[in-house]
Amino acid sequence: MILATTATVAALCSNCGEMEFQALSLFAFSRLGHESFKCHCRTPLLKVSSHNRRVFSLYYQCAYCGETHYLRLNRRAIWGKKALPLICPEFSAIVGFIGPKQKVVQACQEQEKSMGELAEELGYVEEFENPEAMLRLLDHLHSLAEEDKLGCGCGNHQLAFELLPDRIELYCDLCEALGIIYADSMDKIWPVVSMGALYLEENNTWFINRACERQLAMINKEE
Ligand SMILES: [Zn+2]
Ligand SMILES: [Zn+2]
Ligand SMILES: [Zn+2]
Repeated sequence: MILATTATVAALCSNCGEMEFQALSLFAFSRLGHESFKCHCRTPLLKVSSHNRRVFSLYYQCAYCGETHYLRLNRRAIWGKKALPLICPEFSAIVGFIGPKQKVVQACQEQEKSMGELAEELGYVEEFENPEAMLRLLDHLHSLAEEDKLGCGCGNHQLAFELLPDRIELYCDLCEALGIIYADSMDKIWPVVSMGALYLEENNTWFINRACERQLAMINKEE
């Protein structure tokens, strides 16, 4: 039987938005009974404490909602065989993982698609008027970008995003195109996330919510 004594912690930093990896040794608890982790940007990420090295209390700073979440785990859950996700109960989002290094790295790579994009912007989450609508919209734009279905009529596929509390603005750097998507309610983003592609109008300002609503209404009429 192999007894694992080193686990890996991966946690998304609420300040810089990067996923930070650190090693957690079981022996760290023999002296002080607790271990704290900070991001390389010095933001506190996670604290683990235990008095008996059997039951561990885990406190992690949540990059999604800004609160500190708490988990009570036994030794085998941390120094075991699986990567355990650290969850934000409010957003049902994964903030990190703890477990064997290989499994943690693998789990993070699988997560990266949806989180990577958001991570950069996470510092804003609390400032969004409607985080649920904004994150849903971001997810959609991200998958459109991945499928190469997001761009500008001028041929540019690399749009710049600006996140504001109630909306996202998409810019084309090659022409003057600007697209504005309001995301302060689920009702407003719904027509937008129903679209399978989004292209800005060359040199024009485009209010995307309304345009998508019209497009959807037309599609419904035809059917
Ligand atoms: Zn950081
Ligand atoms: Zn949270
Ligand atoms: Zn353009």
